[in-house]
Order: sequence, then structure tokens, then C-alpha cells
Amino acid sequence: MNTPAHVILNLFVLGRKEIPRHQGAILAGAILPDAPMFFFYFIEKVVRGVPEYLIWSHDYYLEPWQNFIDCFNSLPFIALGLFVAWKTQSRAAQLFFVSMILHVCGDLPLHHDDAHRHFFPFSNWRFESPVSYWDPSHYGHIVTGLEILAVLVCAGLVFRSTPHSVTQWFVGVIGVTYAVFFGYVLWVWV
Ligand SMILES: [Zn+2]
Repeated sequence: MNTPAHVILNLFVLGRKEIPRHQGAILAGAILPDAPMFFFYFIEKVVRGVPEYLIWSHDYYLEPWQNFIDCFNSLPFIALGLFVAWKTQSRAAQLFFVSMILHVCGDLPLHHDDAHRHFFPFSNWRFESPVSYWDPSHYGHIVTGLEILAVLVCAGLVFRSTPHSVTQWFVGVIGVTYAVFFGYVLWVWV
């Protein structure tokens, strides 16, 4: 799934009724598994000036980048974090790591050949799903449509059910980010 979609869905599932500080932890946990990808893209595109098609067909699959990205999608590492959070009894930290797990669970059935190794560094196993959240040759168009629909519904429900105006702003900003994101994707890739 695309990052803003993870944020809205995780907020809906885990944090509709939470106080804004806890919702911030859910937001951070929903973003962190994708954060290394943004770093990778920034280095490749802006710093190194690599053409778009090479970034995603070659450089993305280089071992150092794959290891770096998969560290943030590793269930053993996240479970370790959750264990520490449970020990310290910090609800914000617990929500943060549960949000990361939910992100991974959302990605697992929706990545084809760009699947992460969710048991890295103990196993290099990847689940290559027949369904992709973006690849048109693996139902990507349908999944993108469903993702947008899910985001609209969940954003509306969070917006309506929260008593905090800061959360409503939160949802609005993420909604705009999602629209800008698709604008960028259409501009660069189509
Ligand atoms: Zn992801």
C-alpha cells in the first residue's frame, strides 16, 4: 500500500478513539517501514541523479539497499521493539510498534516482485503475492482503486468519530498528501 493509505487505515483500526499523542505514535509507526524507501529515492534521484527507470528496475534490487529497507520491515526487529515497549508499559510505544506490524500485514498480500523479507535477517524468504498494489500486470489498477476507496471511507469515519480537532486537521493533511502523491506518480510515471 502507499504510505498515506497505511497512515489512514492504521489510524482507523488502532487509533480512532485514542488521544492525539497516541495517534501521533500510530502515524509514526505507519510511516517508518516506508521511510528507508524515501531515503533511498532521495539519494538515487536527487543526490545521484539516477534515471527513474533505473532506480526501480536495478538500484532498488541491489543487496545493500534491500538489506537497509528490509530492516524496517522485519517482523523479528519490530517484535523486539514491541517487547521492550510492553516491558516499559508505554502505551504510545506499544501503539507505535503495533502500527508497524499492521503496516507489514497490509503490505504482505499486496507486493509481487518487490516484496520485502519480513523475517530478515533470519530468513531471506519473500512472499511474492499474485496481487500488487501498483503493478498493472498483477491487478494493480483494481487494487489502487480499492485503496483509494478504503482511504476515503476510513478518513471520513476517523474525521467524524474523533472529538479532537487536531486529529481532523491530521486527516485533512494526510488526505491532501495522498492526492499530491498520486499527482506526482502520474506526472513521473505516466
Ligand atoms: Zn510498506
